[in-house]
Amino acid sequence: MDFRPTEEQEILRRTVREFAEAEMRPHVMEWDEAQKFSPGLLPKLAELGLMGIQFDEKYGGSAMSAVDYCICIEELARVCPAIALSVAAHNGLCTSHLNMFGNDAQKDRYLPRLVQGKVLGAWGLTEASAGSDAASMRTVAVRHGDGWTLNGSKNFITHGTIGGVMVAMAVTDRTRGHRGISAFVLEHGTPGMSAGKKENKLGMRASDTSEVVFQDCRIPASQLLGEEGQGFINTLQVLDAGRIGIAALSVGLAQGAYEAARTYARERRQFGQPIAAFQAIQWKLADAATKIEAARLLTYRAAYLKDQGTRMTRESAMAKLYASEVAVKVADDCVQIHGGYGFVKDYPAEKYFRDVKLLTIGEGTSEIQRLVIARQLLA
Ligand SMILES: Cc1cc2nc3c(=O)[nH]c(=O)nc-3n(C[C@H](O)[C@H](O)[C@H](O)COP(=O)(O)OP(=O)(O)OC[C@H]3O[C@@H](n4cnc5c(N)ncnc54)[C@H](O)[C@@H]3O)c2cc1C
Repeated sequence: MDFRPTEEQEILRRTVREFAEAEMRPHVMEWDEAQKFSPGLLPKLAELGLMGIQFDEKYGGSAMSAVDYCICIEELARVCPAIALSVAAHNGLCTSHLNMFGNDAQKDRYLPRLVQGKVLGAWGLTEASAGSDAASMRTVAVRHGDGWTLNGSKNFITHGTIGGVMVAMAVTDRTRGHRGISAFVLEHGTPGMSAGKKENKLGMRASDTSEVVFQDCRIPASQLLGEEGQGFINTLQVLDAGRIGIAALSVGLAQGAYEAARTYARERRQFGQPIAAFQAIQWKLADAATKIEAARLLTYRAAYLKDQGTRMTRESAMAKLYASEVAVKVADDCVQIHGGYGFVKDYPAEKYFRDVKLLTIGEGTSEIQRLVIARQLLA
């Protein structure tokens, strides 16, 4: 057991941190207020290999490990959690689903564009009436001769408006429950597929989120992704890995909030001394630093298991649950340490506090993570 990062991992962390500080930090509030993913950032992320972090070099990917992936997402989230969310959804959901379950022709067709950051990937599971109970989805795909016709809509889709490639789940056999759900890959501009309502969000505002509508959307049979009826089962495997990304995002956001709080506590003076001299503030910082380390270790362990090819449903759910709840607490304390200045947009505390709440909701709420963990414990 070796808890030290390798030299390559230290270089990777430094490189992504320098990139995030130089290319993202100055624009964080501007992007938040514009409520859109900055198109100019995509080629820069791609140049650094961040749009294809764990994917094969033959597609133009960076072929990094799951632990390396965590380091990248952490460092982006430390500066701008919304951009980290976009990068994590692109890598960990859409591209990962295609990479895990696509056939060679599908991988050759879609992966190069995705992993080289020519297009953003979207992934559609959630619907207006099917959130935690995703298998109750209503979107249907009906076979017609040499293809499928999709009808229905997906809700809260990251890159629903700006995604170039989308993986979407739909019911292909209602009588078979979750074994009657299949996955499809679609391209932006397919007739019958359109972006619906764009969400006006509390946080993560620089990451695009919208509805995606399918209205008599006809696609060829070759766009069925994975085996018919396996779409939901495959989705659970995609989410096992995806949750490690959300755990890393939580660790990075918490780290950013903690650092902001520590800096402020040293600078702000009350009663003739820096507020960092008060034990009440010191304890908040000590608790934050300790919990972040624990969350990071849980996250890296889940990622390590993924790298070993070991099943990590329980470990990734534990990491996601714990890290996201730690991040919520750290972001809350960050505002508290800033006092009134934590409530205004001149300091980063306010934005961490808004962004963080998504982390106990997206890719399975905290309640659902506890269900997943308990199911594993009691199996
Ligand atoms: C910014 C953002 C981006 C997103 N991106 C995507 C995306 O790219 N693709 C995608 O498919 N989805 C995406 N989602 C959707 C997200 O995964 C869902 O919001 C999430 O799974 C919860 O579903 P819901 O919102 O319908 O809540 P609900 O399922 O309605 O839950 C409401 C409450 O009930 C609780 N609850 C539900 N069932 C149980 C139970 N059995 N036991 C105990 N408590 C329960 C929940 O924990 C929650 O507290 C995104 C959401 C947001 C906000």
